[in-house]
Amino acid sequence: MEFVVDSMLGDIARWLRMLGQDTLYSSKFEDWRILKIAEKEGRIIVTRDRGLFARAKKKGLKVVLVELGRVEEQIAEVALRTGMELSFDPNKTRCPYCNTRLVKLSKAEALSLLPAKVVSAYDEFWRCPKCGRIYWQGSHWRTINEVLKRANAIIKLRGFSK
Ligand SMILES: [Zn+2]
Repeated sequence: MEFVVDSMLGDIARWLRMLGQDTLYSSKFEDWRILKIAEKEGRIIVTRDRGLFARAKKKGLKVVLVELGRVEEQIAEVALRTGMELSFDPNKTRCPYCNTRLVKLSKAEALSLLPAKVVSAYDEFWRCPKCGRIYWQGSHWRTINEVLKRANAIIKLRGFSK
């Protein structure tokens, strides 16, 4: 799935990228620019702004309105509206900062880039080929599965109440 996220929702943009979704985001995106990107590239708009939501609807664009709240509630809303699956696959994830698909590192490569203490404590490492950030499970991604569990619980509850 491909998204463009409004400038107020940086957290959601990072989450969508971690879930492997191609997500454009900038804190400087103005509404007209978001509408243009969505129109041109067929991306789904995610916004908290009712005005932008209404304008997107009018243009016949796909758009999800999220409320102010916790990130698990917001990603649950996106999943409910789009059918996006809420599961985490480290081999499909994107860099939360620049949206680039991560590549897996071998232990030897990880050793040349990280302290030996870190490399010996974890099994798998990924690197963003664009911005160079390195990721491993147990640090940056520690809470991902917990948040997804809560988000999936919200979806189940909402599914029953409909
Ligand atoms: Zn990156």
